[in-house]
Amino acid sequence: MSEISDECWTRVKGRLRAEVGEAVYSSWFARMELESVEANTARISVPTLFLKSWIQNHYAERLLTCWQSERPAVTRIDLSVRTAAIRSAQPFAVAPPASVPHLEKVDHGHFRPEIKPVSPSSPAVMADTRGGSPLDPRLTFETFVVGRSNTLAHAASKQVATARRGDPVMFNPLYIHAGVGLGKTHLLQAVSQKINSLGERKALYLTAERFMYGFASALRSQTALAFKDALRGIDVLVVDDLQFLQGKNSQAEFSHTLNSLIDGGRQVVVAADRPPAELESLDERIRSRLAGGLVVEIGLLGEELRHEILSARVQTARAHHPAFDVPAQVLTYIARTVTHNGRDLEGALNRLLAHSKLTGQPITMELAERELRDLVRPVELKRVRIEEIQRIVARHYNVSRSDLLSSRRTANVVRPRQIAMYLAKTLTLRSLPEIGRRFGGRDHTTVLHAVRKIESLIGTDNSLAAEIEVLKSQLQE
Ligand code: ADP
Ligand code: MG
Repeated sequence: MSEISDECWTRVKGRLRAEVGEAVYSSWFARMELESVEANTARISVPTLFLKSWIQNHYAERLLTCWQSERPAVTRIDLSVRTAAIRSAQPFAVAPPASVPHLEKVDHGHFRPEIKPVSPSSPAVMADTRGGSPLDPRLTFETFVVGRSNTLAHAASKQVATARRGDPVMFNPLYIHAGVGLGKTHLLQAVSQKINSLGERKALYLTAERFMYGFASALRSQTALAFKDALRGIDVLVVDDLQFLQGKNSQAEFSHTLNSLIDGGRQVVVAADRPPAELESLDERIRSRLAGGLVVEIGLLGEELRHEILSARVQTARAHHPAFDVPAQVLTYIARTVTHNGRDLEGALNRLLAHSKLTGQPITMELAERELRDLVRPVELKRVRIEEIQRIVARHYNVSRSDLLSSRRTANVVRPRQIAMYLAKTLTLRSLPEIGRRFGGRDHTTVLHAVRKIESLIGTDNSLAAEIEVLKSQLQE
């Protein structure tokens, strides 16, 4: 860039800043760069497609006027997205800027980003990647029950699903994490189906496995570019179970796709079973990019939420099987006792439904208790402290706590010490080395030996087993 145009550019920006105000300027124009000024055209680049379309939609005239006040010869502004050029130097480069979404004038007089249709160079790969992973028509926002543990995840998903093309992207990526069965897939599929049903934008739902498979097969058939194009031809990419993404190539490709979509102002939604920082197998840069949007956790389904999910399910089931009548007491029983996992809730109801269909018998409490025994959540254990275990065990065997921690090896201390270690291992979440430390700095192999010893004794010595049960119940009172 010549000094002349540099100076001129500084003045153009100064004018613009004065006209729109500091806040607007720094939101939209701070990252503009002048690429060149040739004859009547000023070429300006911005880092994201979103910025480009926003400036084009809202400030095109203004920008031009500012230029003309400094340099009347300029009659045209050419806005481009910088990233495409830089990116193509990277190993997993996306296709050249030809397929970068361009702006097109549409009927109502606005500009909006237009995603070019993908050239169907490989129908098989297209079908795979464009079709994405299968969507379950039951997993929609309508059937998703909102409660305390998922309010934020639901609200953010809804927001993403109902945004209009060209709206500012609020959080990107949206990253939802939760343990198994807590509704991640349900929300992600709801987002995808909502977007596709509204018809304005195109969403692609992929499991991480599908992503890998699509990429691998694209590489094999030398249509990697087509695969990338397919990914680029969508507005919202939804990737489920990201914890399963493996392999250097897939990761590099994912990272690249993520960057290029986000920088292009397109939405990415991701779900995984843990927060981004804990996706150990992923590259640090991907993790931090994933953490850079909105990260929300879905908590355990509370009893109330479980109850509502169940009632909703019963209503749905009754549409097909009107005789399926689940007494309120049974619903409460299931909501109260079956695990937090949404899949077990579904499994519980399915069992009762099957029973009702096959036998025609009414659903009773007895039936539910019998049929669902294995789904009942174990009573949550009280947190037990190691000191407490040592105290109770020492008292029971009439030794002192310091005897337990000492190096004495007489039989009357060895066995109680082993029992205490065994209880520490089974009633707390402490690791073997930590338990060793708390027992007078012993090695973890000593602890392991004690745990195994007691386990085997419990199997053969009924009175010891009973004694240990008594100790356990004392500790858990
Ligand atoms: P994840 O993907 O987190 O393992 P899923 O989305 O597959 O969990 O949910 C497991 C089951 O629980 C599904 O049948 C799902 O519909 C149901 N479920 C979970 N949360 C909700 C909810 N808030 N409302 C309705 N159904 C839910
Ligand atoms: Mg899932």
